[in-house]
Amino acid sequence: MSKRVGFSSPVTRLARGLGLAVAVLLASGLHAQEAVPAVRAGADARLVASSVELEQFDDRARLVLDLSSAVDASAFLLSDPDRAIIDLPEIDFAVPPPTATPRPRSRRRGLDRAKPVGLVASYRFGRLGPGRSRVILNLSAPARIQRAACEPGGAGRGSRLVVELARTDPASFRAAVQAARATMVGAWTGTRTSPRPGTDQSPAAPSGKPVVVIDPGHGGIDSGAIVNGSVEKELVLGFAKSVASKLEADGRLAVVLTRQDDTFVPLAERVRLARESGALLFVSIHADTLAEATDVAGATVYTVSERASDATAARLAEKENSADAAAGLDQRPEASEVSTILQDLTRRETRALSHVFARTLLTYWKVAGRLNKNPQRSAGFLVLKAPDVPSVLLELGYLTNRRDDQALSSSEWRDATATRVAEAITAFLVARESSVASTAPSRGGAEEAPIGAKP
Ligand SMILES: [Zn+2]
Repeated sequence: MSKRVGFSSPVTRLARGLGLAVAVLLASGLHAQEAVPAVRAGADARLVASSVELEQFDDRARLVLDLSSAVDASAFLLSDPDRAIIDLPEIDFAVPPPTATPRPRSRRRGLDRAKPVGLVASYRFGRLGPGRSRVILNLSAPARIQRAACEPGGAGRGSRLVVELARTDPASFRAAVQAARATMVGAWTGTRTSPRPGTDQSPAAPSGKPVVVIDPGHGGIDSGAIVNGSVEKELVLGFAKSVASKLEADGRLAVVLTRQDDTFVPLAERVRLARESGALLFVSIHADTLAEATDVAGATVYTVSERASDATAARLAEKENSADAAAGLDQRPEASEVSTILQDLTRRETRALSHVFARTLLTYWKVAGRLNKNPQRSAGFLVLKAPDVPSVLLELGYLTNRRDDQALSSSEWRDATATRVAEAITAFLVARESSVASTAPSRGGAEEAPIGAKP
């Protein structure tokens, strides 16, 4: 138990654990906006985190990662939502994702459970992209980063990354966020500037076949829904791969997956991939939850619309659209698109086609799987917003419904429903390809010309 040390003398302990330069930097007073250098990793061996622990006190919080070796880490603050973010090299997290956030020690009893207390409301960690991992602490009060540094691990083995937060005033927090943003312009590189050769992260080579992009939702640091051990990002990846393998076996279409493994891909990157692949169809795969109504079940197909078809669809779009925030991306409003008549026509036709495919998908799906009572809905999903690629989002079912949850983790169910999804995609694209073959402009000209328009 003596492992958990208080906040009494960080500089002393640092001086013990770190090189002088880092200790001096910390002693001279760290500001949250500074990227905090820790200790450079000595070797290129794979980094493993064997434990991730968060401790909360009334006005302080401390995160401790037990690592196989020391790392370079940087910590900074972001707002909307308010977060502390710790960027790390790629780490293999050999621990399950956090399911609950510990409450402050001194006031653990008699708390109103609905009201978040302590500095950290929730936290998550995971892979952000090739070579990058991240830890995100969602703040429930303004905080500053008091310390972020590596020290020797317990029993003389490995290393321990310690990040300490302390409560601060709102003005100081805002100033720290502004400073962090100023140094971060263009900092997000994502998969675009670091493509992994040999994967489907790059647009498909032109094969002359119609292209479909299958988009397993979430990934890496963004787990999506977690219910009783079922993790959305894992289930949807397995499902998407199953659909892709069936389509590849059929051979009539070219298939691109937005991710092949447990990695984070920003929403805009998924849309970009669909457009740059010259995709004729984009299918995003997710799994829903509704804790307050566990009898709600079955698959639902969503298309994009300005106004949500109903409150449930609006709630879901808000949840799915927060994927980038879940990964700690700095979201700022984009410059409003200049909309021309031609673009509006393209968008209208794209949306009409999305509806056609949604209906096709439902018809095929119900042969093998259950449908929600209201299985076709619409809302403002960011990932469906490519103006020139018909796009739908398929929610496979509800992880909060026992029967759906069992189905989603069954390989028989997955095989049967993935077969139907692959059939629906093929039917739609084969029909579409034959109807536009004589009139469509060359692939890649979609930005200028509406799909199916006469040149
Ligand atoms: Zn989702």
